[in-house]
Amino acid sequence: MTTKLLIAGDWRQAASGGTLAAIDPSDGTEYARIGRGGAEDIDRAVRAARAAMDGAWGKMPAVERGRLMMKLARAIGERTEELARIEARDCGKPLKQARADAVACARYFEFYAGACDKLHGETIPFLEGFTVLTLREPHGVTGHIIPWNYPMQILGRSIGASLAVGNACVLKPAEDASMSSLRIGELATEAGFPPGALNVVPGLGEEAGAALCAHSGVDHLSFTGSPEVGTLVQQAAARHNAQATMELGGKSPQLVFADADLEAALPFITGAIIQNAGQTCSAGSRLLIEQSAFDRVADAVAARFKALRVGPWDMDLDCGPLINRAQKTRVDGFIGGALRDGVAKLAEGTIAPNTPPGGYYVAPSFFGPVKPDSRLGQEEVFGPVLAAMRFADEDEALRIANGTPYGLVASVWTRDGGRQMRLARALKCGQVFINNFGAGGGVELPFGGVKRSGFGREKGFEALNGFSVLKTVAIKHG
Ligand code: NAD
Repeated sequence: MTTKLLIAGDWRQAASGGTLAAIDPSDGTEYARIGRGGAEDIDRAVRAARAAMDGAWGKMPAVERGRLMMKLARAIGERTEELARIEARDCGKPLKQARADAVACARYFEFYAGACDKLHGETIPFLEGFTVLTLREPHGVTGHIIPWNYPMQILGRSIGASLAVGNACVLKPAEDASMSSLRIGELATEAGFPPGALNVVPGLGEEAGAALCAHSGVDHLSFTGSPEVGTLVQQAAARHNAQATMELGGKSPQLVFADADLEAALPFITGAIIQNAGQTCSAGSRLLIEQSAFDRVADAVAARFKALRVGPWDMDLDCGPLINRAQKTRVDGFIGGALRDGVAKLAEGTIAPNTPPGGYYVAPSFFGPVKPDSRLGQEEVFGPVLAAMRFADEDEALRIANGTPYGLVASVWTRDGGRQMRLARALKCGQVFINNFGAGGGVELPFGGVKRSGFGREKGFEALNGFSVLKTVAIKHG
């Protein structure tokens, strides 16, 4: 099987005729070929999106856009199992995780379907004889570059919000995981989206991705991926003054104080790093524990790590394989480096017997105590590796928590209400969870980072502001 590109409502081969391999990370085998989009395909897709803005899509009333989006939400919701299996195989994630991703994807379209006709401007008091109002308008053509870790969820939040405002989209999925994006593009076409409203052009980052960023017909870029590529995307966007949203990496801390409800915290502490085998931008990869409770908390977390099992997507265990060989090499490098530096491995999970030899498996590893300024304390591993650190008091906890270049998410586990509020305000990041972590995907909750974790907000109603332009109209009527 070779997949095609969705451009202007039609399925076409890549202009170059080139293809890329779709690899199953659970066994390392090629199971399909993907059309390899390039600059010519991106140009066609951007033109198709512009034509959609000038045509049926641009003229569609907000309420009708909302109905189409709701139809798509239902179509995705009815195919949860099919989409989950596509995603699980493509990304290597356990089926239960992929099911949750499909449900979240449908929910994003549902949420934004309801928002279409609720986004509006304001009136502003001004001089005598004037009426001033603001209009929220679409940018026009929006480009969306997404990574391989949660294609369905990230597509849902980014495309969902952009379509709701009335933009036409060009989506460039990650080369390692394009299948669910193509299937959702197909479902959008079947639901009745006009040609060009949503175009899907898979391909390599340095080819299709770079061409999308450089295209002067793109008015706004939404990028989710690594900080390094985020810089390239911003540079390209700046050359033609396109606005950009950057959803980048993280090294998110989980702060556990001695007074915390440990039983309640434990499943979250482990889940926050194990979900998707740690390949999550908001993974809780640093566990900061109050000195007096360090041994008690570390022992309890270690017991949970020892029980973790890793295997192929269809064994549906705690973790699947990592996405590709390069990612496995990278994560193995972090683990080997920490061991060489003499950091104690407090526990590790088990790779299930009979996993296919070609798969990219890594046993979840729990290290501690880790020095906050060490490589493991500072750099994003993007794998199932948790680094425990000690702190003496609230001030030191905050210094360590804020002491990385990242600022995406943080969690605080304490029963002290004053401390909860002090830390919620003092932590430098985009989301703080008190006595929980991640809160079940949080479709409704604005999400994004500060510092090296990026800027702009996706998810929730706030995303609609980023995907729209505010126009001020001043009417002098005397
Ligand atoms: P990546 O930056 O390598 O790739 C992301 C996307 O960018 C892919 O579609 C890729 O093809 C494309 N790309 C690569 N080079 C490009 C270029 N020169 N021009 C344009 N596009 C290009 O990231 P990854 O390895 O796929 O994902 C891992 C990173 O993503 C981690 O740092 C992770 O934290 C981050 N991430 C962030 C969020 C968030 O919401 N903040 C979510 C998921 C992942």
